[in-house]
Amino acid sequence: MIFTTSWDDGYKLDIRLADLLNCYECKGTFYVCPQQQHAKVMMTTNEIAKLHAQHEIGAHTMHHSKLTEVSIKDAKTEIIESKAWVEKVTGAPCMMFCYPYGFYNDEVKQLVYNAGFKGARTTERQKMAISDPFAIPTTLQITPFPKRKTWSKWWHLLDNNGPKRARKKELMTLGVKEVDMKDWLSLAKALFDIAKTKQQDTPVQFHLWGHSHEIERYDMWEDLEAFLAYVQKSHVRCVVNSDVL
Ligand SMILES: [Zn+2]
Repeated sequence: MIFTTSWDDGYKLDIRLADLLNCYECKGTFYVCPQQQHAKVMMTTNEIAKLHAQHEIGAHTMHHSKLTEVSIKDAKTEIIESKAWVEKVTGAPCMMFCYPYGFYNDEVKQLVYNAGFKGARTTERQKMAISDPFAIPTTLQITPFPKRKTWSKWWHLLDNNGPKRARKKELMTLGVKEVDMKDWLSLAKALFDIAKTKQQDTPVQFHLWGHSHEIERYDMWEDLEAFLAYVQKSHVRCVVNSDVL
């Protein structure tokens, strides 16, 4: 089994995240975008270059565009320019791409392939194998579970257990027990244990991903650290996204 992590957008807090990964001998791919997100402080190009010394830097478009909602011409520009931007910042080839909001289709995938990337990550969750290098799924996002922690939409008040309700069926199919759905850390450990013993034809991969600003917003640093310690104890191989392919 292979363990990999990825972190989106390029927030300044990614530096804290990278330090934490280093403490537990973990690797990450940081999908950075020059466009500021959620009015947060972003990493400078110097900080991104420094991060590249220990982790992988991937492209995530220039403007965090929904690539299925802009013209093919604009999508192509976003993809090609972001690869060139990352390569200029790091001084090294940029192998990996991540679709903003997970929005992609066959045309967008082809553009990413044509641009010379090795693979691309989606936002699909609860998966433990890659069948298409240009549609890499993830296993688990670090985000509040089983309950919501903020009321960003009025109907969230009526759906406090939305995160669990949305995923419960698929988690049970994977073999996660109800008792392990009591909090995010229990779920992460249970999924990791399932991945470790899983038998399948393709290599098993556990892909953790998230946004550092959400870890901060939802106070999940301790959960992340406890999970990384758990992963380290199991002695699984931890690599950057491009090494999974
Ligand atoms: Zn993003």
